[in-house]
Amino acid sequence: MDLDVLLQATKKQLKPERFEHTLRVVDTAVELAKRFGADPPKAKIASILHDYCKFWSREQLTQWIKRCQLPLDLLEYHKEIWHAPVGAEVAREEFGIVDEDILQSIRSHTVGRPGMSTLEKVVYLADYIEPGRRFPGVDEVRRLAEIDLDVAVLQAMDNTILFLQSQQQPIYPLAIAARDELKRMLSGKRLREESV
Ligand code: GDP
Ligand code: FE
Ligand code: FE
Repeated sequence: MDLDVLLQATKKQLKPERFEHTLRVVDTAVELAKRFGADPPKAKIASILHDYCKFWSREQLTQWIKRCQLPLDLLEYHKEIWHAPVGAEVAREEFGIVDEDILQSIRSHTVGRPGMSTLEKVVYLADYIEPGRRFPGVDEVRRLAEIDLDVAVLQAMDNTILFLQSQQQPIYPLAIAARDELKRMLSGKRLREESV
């Protein structure tokens, strides 16, 4: 895979600040991949393409959602979450990416999903903590990302859900399912550790 081709194509789709964000996500994801045992070259490809469709119109995104038979319930939620699943389809159709883990990492980078792979978590977290981000609570997630991937991803998901709820925004059900699965998994792990 020629990364320069992906980078140049992505650059054409994005406003300059958004492309800068993408470059910071790439660097952060590669670092996290090394730290937590995901494949750095795959992290790079997924990160370059993750926001490819960020500025597509409602009409164009809707067309892809319908044609690719993506879940139609997406259309009942905020347009902001559509660029991730459509981005995965574009990666496959326009750039010939077949690696399911890469495609899934693009697809789940905004809301997550239950059963995320290490690569998916790495891309999700890199998007949240890249050095340009200024969310309330992001420094705490950066600190957690030094130590434990699952704990950091859970905190990022929780922050996002709580923030959206405070804005009276509906939460896409997959986001809740993803957060709750990690929460259950981590509290089970804690109980097992306490009982030894
Ligand atoms: P970005 O593309 O780098 O800006 O980051 P993301 O892809 O993570 O997020 C895009 C937007 O989607 C952010 O403003 C999030 O707050 C929002 N978002 C994430 N999950 C949900 C959700 O479940 N429902 C809604 N309505 N918005 C969400
Ligand atoms: Fe995004
Ligand atoms: Fe992003």
